[in-house]
Amino acid sequence: MGHDMPVEGTTPEPVEEAQWIAWMLQRLSGSPFRAKFRLADADRAYARAKGRATIYRHAHEMLRARIGAAHPLKDGKQTPWKGHPVFTAQHATATCCRGCIMRWHHIPKGRALTDAEVNRLAALVMAWIDRDLRDHPAQPELPIETEKTAAPPQQKATPTATMEPLF
Ligand SMILES: [Zn+2]
Repeated sequence: MGHDMPVEGTTPEPVEEAQWIAWMLQRLSGSPFRAKFRLADADRAYARAKGRATIYRHAHEMLRARIGAAHPLKDGKQTPWKGHPVFTAQHATATCCRGCIMRWHHIPKGRALTDAEVNRLAALVMAWIDRDLRDHPAQPELPIETEKTAAPPQQKATPTATMEPLF
């Protein structure tokens, strides 16, 4: 989706993958549109239940299937906002459609992505999901209340003033 202006890096694009990911996340944080994305609670729960290896595999499969072709189906609106953690991460990392990939990642439209490009974009998507999960730790289970610790039932408040009948 084209709701933002790409932010250029302040340093040259690193070649090494971990450095490149950090550099890209920095660039993306400069775009209010990209930076506002967060995973939905349901997507966090799904990612934690499935595990990292599965989500990473999904990222590869979904990028390959939805943006990998030279002319992807419904390009520009093929990526839902949520429903899978990879979808939200794609918007956040500008890997949602070939227009965003062209403007942010400088990969031209009209040709299939290479395996190396899919791998690199999937690594960025996964790093973004990792960071969101780190920033939003799973809530600990609340202890089950026993009869002993349970609070006594609330006394029903008695109204201090009563309405006078109109008639
Ligand atoms: Zn897009």
